[in-house]
Amino acid sequence: MGGLGSGRPGWRVPESALVRLDVSRLYRAGLLLAGRSFELSGRDGRSVEVAVEPHRLDLRYPDGATESVGLERLPRHFGGVIHYFCCPGCGKRVRALYAARRYRCRHCLNLCWDVESEDELTRMFRRSAKISSKLEGRLWNRTRARLEGELVALQGGLWQAVVQHFGADG
Ligand SMILES: [Zn+2]
Repeated sequence: MGGLGSGRPGWRVPESALVRLDVSRLYRAGLLLAGRSFELSGRDGRSVEVAVEPHRLDLRYPDGATESVGLERLPRHFGGVIHYFCCPGCGKRVRALYAARRYRCRHCLNLCWDVESEDELTRMFRRSAKISSKLEGRLWNRTRARLEGELVALQGGLWQAVVQHFGADG
């Protein structure tokens, strides 16, 4: 497996660094019924208000901005339906959105990330990829504990950086 940081000179955001909003999980929790409203809390402790309309979610962000996320349901091949979000950034039909400053799909986020290949974030992603691959191998317990601690700290830092990055682009 290629893993993080391999391949293109840029890198991909590890999903673990972002808050994931999964459409089927929301559906199973009974939240996708028109007329409902709920809050999504981000890692920075600020929540996004969500109102469910018949074919969309209306989001209100902590900064007061509002945005709609389309909802689609398509029949599944063997019966039942699959739910999708329409990414408010690119309109793609996706199963999950990720909390940056706004909720966006992985395609939108990767496009942004690829531009920034030489900065601090890249270094952090590379380091975090290196640690992840080391953790897959055999290690002394003490080494493993140290690397796991470092990885948690890096991912916390990455999350902060993600917030700052998206905070900067309107
Ligand atoms: Zn998108």
